Amino acid sequence: PFDVLVVGGGPAGASAAIYAARKGIRTGIVAERFGGQILDTAAIENFISVKRTEGPKLAANLEEHVKEYNVDVMNLQRAKRLEKKDLIEIELENGAVLKSKSVILATGARWRNIGVPGEAEFRNKGVAYCPHCDGPLFEGKDVAVVGGGNSGIEAAIDLAGITNHVTVLEFGSELRADSVLQERLYSLPNVTVVKNAQTTEITGTDKVDGITYIDRETGEEKHVELAGVFVQIGLVPNTDWLGDSVERNKAGEIVVDKRGATNVPGVFAAGDCSDSAFKQIIISMGAGATASLSAFDYIVRSQVE
Ligand code: FAD
Repeated sequence: PFDVLVVGGGPAGASAAIYAARKGIRTGIVAERFGGQILDTAAIENFISVKRTEGPKLAANLEEHVKEYNVDVMNLQRAKRLEKKDLIEIELENGAVLKSKSVILATGARWRNIGVPGEAEFRNKGVAYCPHCDGPLFEGKDVAVVGGGNSGIEAAIDLAGITNHVTVLEFGSELRADSVLQERLYSLPNVTVVKNAQTTEITGTDKVDGITYIDRETGEEKHVELAGVFVQIGLVPNTDWLGDSVERNKAGEIVVDKRGATNVPGVFAAGDCSDSAFKQIIISMGAGATASLSAFDYIVRSQVE
């Protein structure tokens, strides 16, 4: 069996695997797609100490760093079941069952898409999902935020300070964000809120030049010219496969304590799949390191043979 088996090959999983391997213990990593979300990212400018990099380059650096160590890398493999026995079992889609003294869950998350024409085509060309990451790219320009929940309104407040103007498009008849956020939003001079707005298309040629929506009250089609669209209709953790084996919150995020421990002894979690307060590369890497050190501690203390 492994001492530490990491499920997920994004920033959290890579960090966890390196920290474990550096303890000289048997370490494996299973990843559906090594690199994770950063493979879909263009510029990364907030990975501290690296002024600017690109997602695929950072993913290649992660893989290179992991391969410096004696880590059993199982790429293109998807985990489908976790079961705690004496050891912890992880069953893969291909039927293999891996056993380990400890497991670190680092399966990340994915942004929910609107699913309209232009969204996929202009991803990283004006369509963005992360205001902390891509907000500064739209300095002085006009943008839209699709989604009027907490993340959408937080994004709109954040973007109002950087961009020229923000249009918030909410599908429902009311914003769903907390009232303090709504008050803050409505106090800003350069924000327009449109309710009952069904986004139908993100337009552009080589990059985004506007957004089209239908006013659901009147049925009228409207178009707003702008340079960027931030999609904020939810971040979905990749945790369905866990079922009830590990405690998750209402959003499906794995509940962890400050050491990265879940409710199951020997099972830890890190990064975007967990209930961490913020979802960022640097935060995921830190959480991966924390979970890995906790797993090592667990193995030493429990002396499972
Ligand atoms: P992920 O990166 O999601 O990795 C999850 C891993 O688990 C992947 O390898 C995946 O294939 C694997 N996996 C999932 N399910 C299974 C399964 N069942 N079995 C096996 N493997 C599985 N953050 C920043 O800090 N700066 C930025 O500039 C930035 N820009 C972004 C731009 C975009 C377009 C997106 C989408 C995100 C951006 N982020 C940015 C957020 C950042 O990418 C994430 O916070 C970070 O990647 C989370 O790392 P993670 O390891 O927790 O999860």
